[in-house]
Amino acid sequence: MITVTFWGTRGSIPTAFDSAAQHETLISALAQAGPDDVGSRAAAEAYLARAGGLHLHQRYGGDTTCVEFQNSGGGRIIIDFGSGARRFGGAAIGEDGPVSGRPFSFLMTHMHWDHVQGFPFFAPCFIPGNEIRISGSHGSAALKDALFGQMKPPYFPVPVEAMRADISFPEVPADEPFELEGFQVTPFLLRHGDGSYGYRLEFDGASVVFASDAEHDLNDLVPEYAYVKWTKGADLLIFDAQYSLADLVLHKEDWGHSSGLVAVDLAHLADVKQVLLTHHDPSASDEDIDGIAQQTLEYEEMLRDGGASAIDVRAAFDGLKVEVGL
Ligand SMILES: [Zn+2]
Ligand SMILES: [Zn+2]
Repeated sequence: MITVTFWGTRGSIPTAFDSAAQHETLISALAQAGPDDVGSRAAAEAYLARAGGLHLHQRYGGDTTCVEFQNSGGGRIIIDFGSGARRFGGAAIGEDGPVSGRPFSFLMTHMHWDHVQGFPFFAPCFIPGNEIRISGSHGSAALKDALFGQMKPPYFPVPVEAMRADISFPEVPADEPFELEGFQVTPFLLRHGDGSYGYRLEFDGASVVFASDAEHDLNDLVPEYAYVKWTKGADLLIFDAQYSLADLVLHKEDWGHSSGLVAVDLAHLADVKQVLLTHHDPSASDEDIDGIAQQTLEYEEMLRDGGASAIDVRAAFDGLKVEVGL
């Protein structure tokens, strides 16, 4: 089994807590509650659990990319040091204590700001005894430059030397499968400014593909497309859906991102069972993201009516945890 925890699902730049949006969320939840739903904490919790529906009580979240993958053999890979790494670090310390008994093995997709900016705030890096291993298909030197470079003056007040953990940058192959933390990892290059890598992670028959920060030419959506081979038969595809299809076609071609509708087309070509949309646009409200998810679902249902197999499609949010495989 692979357990996936999303610590950051926002694209491009972290988005701050929006009190006006939170106010609307509260009003909407209260307006739908009955007198028995709000009399006590237990009643309120039961009501929210019953109500389901993200929009009623939760926000998608504003941290940038950081996703944790744990396999049932005890191995752990974390993809990217977006701002979500700050909360992940805090949670890991809360769970394991200041010094973790196992390494933090990071795999980096690329070095755009939204994927490296959580590194200076990853608390386990400052605690002697922790082991932080950082790898990626761009190579050790480039990764080290990007992660350490942002801590040089005048960008950051605390020098990287203050990080007392054992931080290493093991090389991994750029274009061929390798083993890491018990996972079989297959890297593949995506179309994105300066190149972004997707990773297919497999463990004991379960497979998850993380492929954010990628653009797909609509003419590429054919069975021969290399991306279809990389994602073939995956239990879960985590996909960049920063834009609605209208955005993509009308304004944002060549901006390096994609849409949920493209995700569904590719998932069908590759026989993927579940798709989680991520890298939400920083200017998108929760309602906008709900809209993208809904548009994607309707498209999936339309294809299903045409005879295509079912795909479970949802938008990921900060804090979402899903289990894949047995
Ligand atoms: Zn990004
Ligand atoms: Zn990027």
